[in-house]
Amino acid sequence: MISINKYHILPFNFIRIKNKEVLVNELGDMIVVPTGTACRLVNKEVIEEELFKSLYANFFVTNNYFSSLMNVYAARLREKKGFLDNFTSLHIFVLTLRCNQNCVYCQASSQDEVSKHCSMSFHTMGKAVELMFKSRSPFLTMEFQGGEPTLEPKLIRYGIERAEETNKTEKRKIDYVLCTNSINLTEEIMDICQTYHVLISTSLDGPEWLHNRNRGKKDSYEKVVAGITKARELLGYDQVSALMTASEEGVFHPIEIVDEYYRFGFNSIFLRALNPYGLARDNSDWDVYTDKFIDFYKKALNYIIELNLNGKFFIEEFAAIILRKMLTPFCTGFVDLQSPAGIINSVLVYNYDGYVYASDESRMLAEFNDYTFRLGSVDDKYEDIVYGQKARELGKIWCNETIAGCSDCPIRVYCGADPVRNYSTQGDTYGYRPNSWLCRKNKAIIEYIIELIVTRHDEVMPIFKSWLV
Ligand code: SF4
Repeated sequence: MISINKYHILPFNFIRIKNKEVLVNELGDMIVVPTGTACRLVNKEVIEEELFKSLYANFFVTNNYFSSLMNVYAARLREKKGFLDNFTSLHIFVLTLRCNQNCVYCQASSQDEVSKHCSMSFHTMGKAVELMFKSRSPFLTMEFQGGEPTLEPKLIRYGIERAEETNKTEKRKIDYVLCTNSINLTEEIMDICQTYHVLISTSLDGPEWLHNRNRGKKDSYEKVVAGITKARELLGYDQVSALMTASEEGVFHPIEIVDEYYRFGFNSIFLRALNPYGLARDNSDWDVYTDKFIDFYKKALNYIIELNLNGKFFIEEFAAIILRKMLTPFCTGFVDLQSPAGIINSVLVYNYDGYVYASDESRMLAEFNDYTFRLGSVDDKYEDIVYGQKARELGKIWCNETIAGCSDCPIRVYCGADPVRNYSTQGDTYGYRPNSWLCRKNKAIIEYIIELIVTRHDEVMPIFKSWLV
């Protein structure tokens, strides 16, 4: 029997949007209530019965901390943190810094195609594969990055063959992903992809003029389109996905970019901001860029909603990740919005030079002689890499539940912790949220999604639910 007179509150934060109060609990459940409800709950006032029942059923209040309902709460919280169960599953292999493009926003400090001494050795690849299998995760993703990894086809084949051989006894589920600009999809590369069912993750920045401008080559778009078409034909339509990065020019063209993806047969787009690493680090006024990106994102998302309202199924992937956190009981596996952070817990990076890093961004910092997030080398013991001194130090600051600014943030459960980004932009792994670009961007976008749910509920919810596939 529920009592409305005597109750305990369960942990939640709240935010006011358009004269409504939105309460968000630790499970990611969200409830829209009359303004002033949070204050009334804290003061233990008697709440109207219907509202109280909603709060009770959605784990904002309880009559008894030790009731069986609390076991459900615990089970759901465990599920939300399920990404921790098996430890690192994403293993990134940076094969080379060599590249055949000249992107204006390159984050990987790529080198000319003919450069020497910036590709992984076969010894390093073999050792890295051994380390990958030390992770106890039953699911492993082996992702090849660069530079442009297709410039090292023999290394890709060798890495996969080593993994396949080891997996005869390990019996893990392994996904292979090739991150490529798609302009060098040779017969050899296609053969590897066909033989081992390698997924192609490519990048397309928008219409021809914009893509070519970003890539610094006049014929880049033409080649990418030819590459994607070829890969779709040989590997299957669903084996090819594309990512876009909103360059400083791109942020002015949300509609054209979405249209290009739709026209080209993709049913989703991931609206991605520039990262302050590599070439991009010095190229931008990041305060200005952040505001422009937020504006770009909102315009693009609104346009995508309009497409869906007009019967065209098309997903914005970042919003879909946030919506999965809000509307489903599951964790998303998206390493950039995790607490504890994705570094080490979900990702390890084996760099071309034989060193192991905490994340993709960590190895990018190393190109500027900053080795803060270098965990060791492929010749070290797995335990020394993932449980070593550096990993333990990072462990003190990789939960947004415990760091100042985030701990009482109303949208914390939808966001994540990122000590590497804090360090690279603010010189301090702990970070300072009030002037963090990443915080500003995440907050603005996540709050905008909540605002859409509050203000256009009946219109957007069927669309948002259809994105949870
Ligand atoms: S980074 Fe910003 S938006 Fe994200 S949880 Fe922390 S304070 Fe909130």
